Amino acid sequence: MALLKILTYPDPILRQKAEPITVFDEELKTLVANMAETMYAAPGVGLAANQIGIAKQLLVIDITGSDAEEKELITLINPKISKGEGSAVDEEGCLSVVDYTANVKRFTKIWVEALDVDGNPLAFEAEDYFARVIQHEVDHLNGHLFIDWISSLKLSLYKKKRKKQLLADQQKQASA
Ligand code: ZN
Repeated sequence: MALLKILTYPDPILRQKAEPITVFDEELKTLVANMAETMYAAPGVGLAANQIGIAKQLLVIDITGSDAEEKELITLINPKISKGEGSAVDEEGCLSVVDYTANVKRFTKIWVEALDVDGNPLAFEAEDYFARVIQHEVDHLNGHLFIDWISSLKLSLYKKKRKKQLLADQQKQASA
């Protein structure tokens, strides 16, 4: 297994719409295992394939948290949210949006259709935090980040902060 590099805003691949997966082979299983390892190491509760530079419709999610004894890894391929109801605002962050969180409005209950890693169909309902994480990850596959749903004022503040961070990183590299 291998840790993968997580791409961060404003990397253009995060804006790409992911392609459906049609081949369910060993290579896919290896990718899922590497994505899961990368998510746990980060640590994060979800990771979409375009976050590691592959614009394919693949997500790994585990909302039990990095120090949970029993992992509950969920792999969703070509996921679709067919219906949603209710709404709640809560704080979100993202492995691709460095050092930033914001309140985002999401459905509190969703109906999900997807395939598993072997290509078998899955259909289930998700609620509350689990539903929020799935909505955040499915957004990634559509080229969206949670900062797309915040006010333009907050977004411009975040963009300024991010520019400073990137500049500081460049200067660090230049002097190293
Ligand atoms: Zn994210």
